[in-house]
Amino acid sequence: MKRLIFTTALMGSLLLLNCGPTNHSDHPKNIADANPMDYAQTITTEELKDLLYTYASDEFEGRETGEPGQKKAVAFLRDFYENHNIKSPLDTTYFQTVPESYFAANSGIKASENVLAYIEGSTKPDEIIIVSAHLDHVGVRDDGVVFNGADDDGSGTVAVLQIADAFNEAVKNGYRPQRSILFLHVTGEEKGLYGSRYYAEHPVFPLANTEADLNIDMIGRQDYDHPDDDNYVYLIGSSMLSTELHDISEEINNKYINLELDYKYDAPDDPNRFYYRSDHYNFAKNGVPVIFYFNGVHDDYHQVSDTPDKINYPLLAKRAKLVFLTAWELANRPERIVVDKK
Ligand SMILES: [Zn+2]
Repeated sequence: MKRLIFTTALMGSLLLLNCGPTNHSDHPKNIADANPMDYAQTITTEELKDLLYTYASDEFEGRETGEPGQKKAVAFLRDFYENHNIKSPLDTTYFQTVPESYFAANSGIKASENVLAYIEGSTKPDEIIIVSAHLDHVGVRDDGVVFNGADDDGSGTVAVLQIADAFNEAVKNGYRPQRSILFLHVTGEEKGLYGSRYYAEHPVFPLANTEADLNIDMIGRQDYDHPDDDNYVYLIGSSMLSTELHDISEEINNKYINLELDYKYDAPDDPNRFYYRSDHYNFAKNGVPVIFYFNGVHDDYHQVSDTPDKINYPLLAKRAKLVFLTAWELANRPERIVVDKK
């Protein structure tokens, strides 16, 4: 989540050879026969915790855009996808380079990378659902202490990895989604939503074919308003462009997860301006429906104390499952969702 600055605020479908352990299959099956909850359950607190204790460790030096720690972060993400045999939509690399010239003049920000992985759809491969999170954070404090950014946005980053793996497990069992899913890790968020803006201006799949962006930024904690409530998540933007997206999101939550979906911040004129403060905004402003998943702010927001030991892992897993199940539904509905608002 980018800090609020009031003055500037305006601005291959047949690769089924790797079979899952429970269901040896060399044929695609009817996706309607799959139970998405079987795959949601592959998102576990243990794996999220393992990943986050690495991703939000001092070794990654606060993942500041363009700096060595951020390069370690993108290498970690690439290795995860390679090791899980989840492909990139780009020919020879998982990285989309954001050149130094793209960043503000005199900002001192060096070239950086978005990381892209995807699962190709079976029957509608040209229609895309994006699941996104920002990979960067704010670096190292002047005294050398690392900003680990476990919640911001380590939590979203490891959720995207686990969601990708859950889709991949389904593919291995013969259940490839009908539409394609792009797992998009964007850089430069903390510097000003640069990576998502770069992607939106240089999309790998046309934005006109992009059905929705489900963006995750901070889902591992509880905020000031929910100190004892570990069954909520804020949703922002879900009804801004598509009534249908909002309704699907509610339906899927009611059917499988039963989190309290809190819409307190879901207004463009909310004084916190959260709608404008994370990467989904660069899709929404281009007419792509979005949902922003967010836990709100807490004492450790943008402090060196945003560490992985403070994450509520069962809650992180539950929220990640909601995003996965919503993406599954969007990828497999007969018709893509309708944009009925502007
Ligand atoms: Zn932030």
